Amino acid sequence: MPYEQELAIALEAVRQASALCSTAQAGLTSSEHMDKADKSPVTVADYGAQALVLNTLAKTFPNDPAVGEEDAGDLRKEENSILFSKIVSYVQEIDPSMNEATILASIDRGAHSGGADGRFWTLDPIDGTKGFLRGQQYAVALALIEDGEVVLGALGCPNLPVDPSNPEGEKGCLLYAVKGHGAFQAPLSDLSKAVAVSCDTVSEASQAVFCESVESGHTAHGRSAVISELLESQATPFRMDSQCKYAALSRGQASIYLRLPTRPGYEEKIWDHAAGFIVLTEAGGKVADTFGKPLDFSLGQTLRLNKGIVATSAGLFDSVIEAVVKSGQIDSQRTPS
Ligand code: AMP
Ligand code: MG
Repeated sequence: MPYEQELAIALEAVRQASALCSTAQAGLTSSEHMDKADKSPVTVADYGAQALVLNTLAKTFPNDPAVGEEDAGDLRKEENSILFSKIVSYVQEIDPSMNEATILASIDRGAHSGGADGRFWTLDPIDGTKGFLRGQQYAVALALIEDGEVVLGALGCPNLPVDPSNPEGEKGCLLYAVKGHGAFQAPLSDLSKAVAVSCDTVSEASQAVFCESVESGHTAHGRSAVISELLESQATPFRMDSQCKYAALSRGQASIYLRLPTRPGYEEKIWDHAAGFIVLTEAGGKVADTFGKPLDFSLGQTLRLNKGIVATSAGLFDSVIEAVVKSGQIDSQRTPS
């Protein structure tokens, strides 16, 4: 299989970062952690996860650039020294060989601008920050992009039940894919227990389960209700933070993921979609924007030529795109320009 070494390193990096995030999120529930003056624990986890992942990648692939969501600029400021010392302790719990200098340098490895040439990694160290803060779903999302195409993705989902039919059972999944080689899921506790995953085969949109962001600022909930009506959907939609939505579709838990623009100028970030995109595509799903246009990952840090996201299992794609386009026309008739 191509990218075998890249995959092994990516899985290990995401597993470590997921462990750091789980520890940090557990601290969140212990009362005062969130209210401290030295900034929120989510920031600590974001930085710590990015440091671990980019350090691990750099050891084996020193020439690969990365587009990461965070940079270490603020951490060098005196007023953030307490925050930084927490990051150092979280990171060293997992990788004692990292010191302050390597942590800062590793975070700053994520400064690449992306684009169409060559290969680079893209990382969202904690996707779904709001879910992380609420003690709910979030994901560590890492992907490899080569000549503008996503070729590999790994999604660490520390709070996602391993078995969707047993939501109270073991939590913590790693979903991953290499282009052309299918999609897999393993429990974060034991990566050797990987199984292939695939989308559902529902062919009637009326039977399909929708999922969407919890946050109304990230997707237009009203428009998705219109789409659901147009498709005569019977099932109750569910809301979940982060790229765990791509994971849910990839293992047949839901069939439609809608991300409908809430404001005209917003450009989706590549790190918010690359890993989920490749996992879902390899699980047999389809992903496009709200006009049915393929996602273009070759344009830099954002998907600037796409508007919103529509992801479905394969059998539903055409009918869902049709309804999404129609809902856009209804919207524009309602909104005077
Ligand atoms: P979710 O957890 O699916 O709601 O998505 C979380 C991601 O939404 C964050 O990582 C942000 O990068 C992204 N985001 C922030 N603002 C917007 C917006 N206006 N529209 C869409 N996504 C956004
Ligand atoms: Mg994100």
